Amino acid sequence: MASAAYYTGCEYKNYESHFLDSCFLCNRSLSQNHDIFMYRGNTPFCSQECRQEQIEMDEADEKRWKISTSRSKLNSESAKETDTNKAIRAGTVAVA
Ligand SMILES: [Zn+2]
Repeated sequence: MASAAYYTGCEYKNYESHFLDSCFLCNRSLSQNHDIFMYRGNTPFCSQECRQEQIEMDEADEKRWKISTSRSKLNSESAKETDTNKAIRAGTVAVA
Protein backbone atom coordinates (compact mmCIF):
# COMPACT_ATOMS: atom_id res chain seq x y z
CA MET A 1 0.00 0.00 0.00
CA ALA A 2 2.82 2.33 0.93
CA SER A 3 4.59 1.65 -2.35
CA ALA A 4 1.42 2.41 -4.32
CA ALA A 5 1.08 5.76 -2.61
CA TYR A 6 4.71 6.48 -3.28
CA TYR A 7 4.26 5.63 -6.95
CA THR A 8 1.33 8.00 -7.28
CA GLY A 9 3.37 10.78 -5.70
CA CYS A 10 6.16 10.07 -8.13
CA GLU A 11 3.85 10.29 -11.12
CA TYR A 12 2.50 13.61 -9.92
CA LYS A 13 6.05 14.90 -9.60
CA ASN A 14 6.82 13.80 -13.15
CA TYR A 15 3.76 15.57 -14.44
CA GLU A 16 4.76 18.76 -12.65
CA SER A 17 8.30 18.77 -14.03
CA HIS A 18 7.00 17.95 -17.50
CA PHE A 19 4.68 20.93 -17.25
CA LEU A 20 7.63 23.20 -16.54
CA ASP A 21 9.68 21.58 -19.27
CA SER A 22 8.63 23.68 -22.21
CA CYS A 23 7.70 27.27 -22.96
CA PHE A 24 3.99 27.91 -22.62
CA LEU A 25 3.98 30.01 -25.77
CA CYS A 26 6.42 28.47 -28.26
CA ASN A 27 6.83 25.03 -26.62
CA ARG A 28 10.60 25.36 -26.72
CA SER A 29 12.27 22.99 -24.27
CA LEU A 30 13.25 24.70 -21.04
CA SER A 31 15.51 21.90 -19.81
CA GLN A 32 18.69 23.60 -21.05
CA ASN A 33 17.35 27.05 -20.38
CA HIS A 34 18.86 28.70 -17.33
CA ASP A 35 16.37 31.50 -17.30
CA ILE A 36 12.79 30.42 -16.99
CA PHE A 37 10.35 33.29 -16.93
CA MET A 38 7.32 32.61 -14.80
CA TYR A 39 4.00 34.29 -15.26
CA ARG A 40 0.93 34.03 -13.05
CA GLY A 41 2.85 31.77 -10.73
CA ASN A 42 2.84 28.56 -12.74
CA THR A 43 3.23 29.40 -16.43
CA PRO A 44 6.79 29.04 -17.69
CA PHE A 45 8.31 30.86 -20.66
CA CYS A 46 11.67 30.45 -22.38
CA SER A 47 12.24 34.18 -22.73
CA GLN A 48 11.01 37.54 -21.61
CA GLU A 49 9.67 38.08 -25.13
CA CYS A 50 7.46 34.99 -24.96
CA ARG A 51 6.16 35.96 -21.54
CA GLN A 52 5.56 39.54 -22.68
CA GLU A 53 3.61 38.25 -25.66
CA GLN A 54 1.41 36.16 -23.40
CA ILE A 55 0.88 39.15 -21.10
CA GLU A 56 -0.09 41.29 -24.08
CA MET A 57 -2.48 38.62 -25.34
CA ASP A 58 -4.07 38.44 -21.91
CA GLU A 59 -4.37 42.23 -21.78
CA ALA A 60 -5.85 42.28 -25.27
CA ASP A 61 -8.36 39.66 -24.18
CA GLU A 62 -9.27 41.77 -21.18
CA LYS A 63 -9.63 44.88 -23.33
CA ARG A 64 -11.71 43.02 -25.89
CA TRP A 65 -13.94 41.81 -23.11
CA LYS A 66 -14.25 45.34 -21.70
CA ILE A 67 -14.91 46.81 -25.15
CA SER A 68 -17.57 44.24 -25.93
CA THR A 69 -19.33 44.95 -22.64
CA SER A 70 -19.07 48.73 -23.00
CA ARG A 71 -20.09 48.41 -26.66
CA SER A 72 -23.31 46.65 -25.78
CA LYS A 73 -23.97 49.47 -23.31
CA LEU A 74 -23.07 52.05 -25.95
CA ASN A 75 -25.42 50.44 -28.45
CA SER A 76 -28.43 50.93 -26.25
CA GLU A 77 -27.26 54.45 -25.33
CA SER A 78 -26.44 55.47 -28.90
CA ALA A 79 -29.84 54.23 -30.02
CA LYS A 80 -31.40 56.68 -27.59
CA GLU A 81 -28.94 59.38 -28.65
CA THR A 82 -29.83 58.92 -32.29
CA ASP A 83 -33.47 59.42 -31.48
CA THR A 84 -32.64 62.57 -29.51
CA ASN A 85 -30.42 63.86 -32.31
CA LYS A 86 -33.18 63.33 -34.83
CA ALA A 87 -35.61 65.21 -32.65
CA ILE A 88 -33.14 68.10 -32.20
CA ARG A 89 -32.33 68.16 -35.91
CA ALA A 90 -35.96 68.13 -36.84
CA GLY A 91 -36.50 70.99 -34.40
CA THR A 92 -33.57 72.94 -35.87
CA VAL A 93 -34.88 72.42 -39.37
CA ALA A 94 -38.30 73.58 -38.27
CA VAL A 95 -36.81 76.75 -36.69
CA ALA A 96 -34.65 77.49 -39.76
ZN1 LIG B 1 9.10 30.66 -25.79
